[in-house]
Amino acid sequence: TTFDQMGLDSRILRALKKMGFKNPSLVQSKAIPLSLQGKDILAKARTGSGKTAAYSIPIIQKILTAKEKTNIKGVKAVILVPTRELCEQVKQHFTQLSCYSSHLVSVVQLGGDKSIDEQKGLLRDIPDVIISTPTRLVQHLQNKTIQLQSSLDILVIDEADLVLSYGHQEDINIIKSFLPKVCQCFLMSATLTQQVEELKKLVLHTPAILKL
Ligand code: AMP
Repeated sequence: TTFDQMGLDSRILRALKKMGFKNPSLVQSKAIPLSLQGKDILAKARTGSGKTAAYSIPIIQKILTAKEKTNIKGVKAVILVPTRELCEQVKQHFTQLSCYSSHLVSVVQLGGDKSIDEQKGLLRDIPDVIISTPTRLVQHLQNKTIQLQSSLDILVIDEADLVLSYGHQEDINIIKSFLPKVCQCFLMSATLTQQVEELKKLVLHTPAILKL
């Protein structure tokens, strides 16, 4: 498959062209069509495989499609990453992919060195997409500065093995209790450890498993 054959919004295709992405990587060619069909994804994918775009493109596509119908404010996707540095990297990549749809797809990252109170300001104008470490997201959920219950469509746990090795298992359990009953999940992990297997049971319902 090429990007053109995936039925993507023209604004995404233009962004991919601008970024110089000619063909989808392996994980992208598998994960994007399956996720657009609504499947949960578990992908054994390391850094450098193109995994960030593999989940970001479906998120942008789904938000653009939803906004053609309604424009109700609410967080539609959460991307969890293990470190603050990765929050910033994913934000930059996501912003490039959404450069022609930035007026419709707003994104905030909660990993940086801003205090909780400064971040509350960023969250007042509810973003469509939040990129965060698990710990920060838990703080905002418990402070009620973020609501996910009624609006969330997609949850991504990127570098899931690292998220768990940093001891975030308990954070993930708490986050899970704030999620709607049904939401689409992506687990991206370089390794499939026992911990990731357990996480899979916790968050995935109808997974397509991609061991690339
Ligand atoms: P990631 O695995 O998401 O960290 O991506 C690794 C690098 O590959 C990033 O610098 C991306 O910009 C680049 N990349 C991702 N997908 C593609 C693609 N389809 N074509 C060319 N470069 C890509």
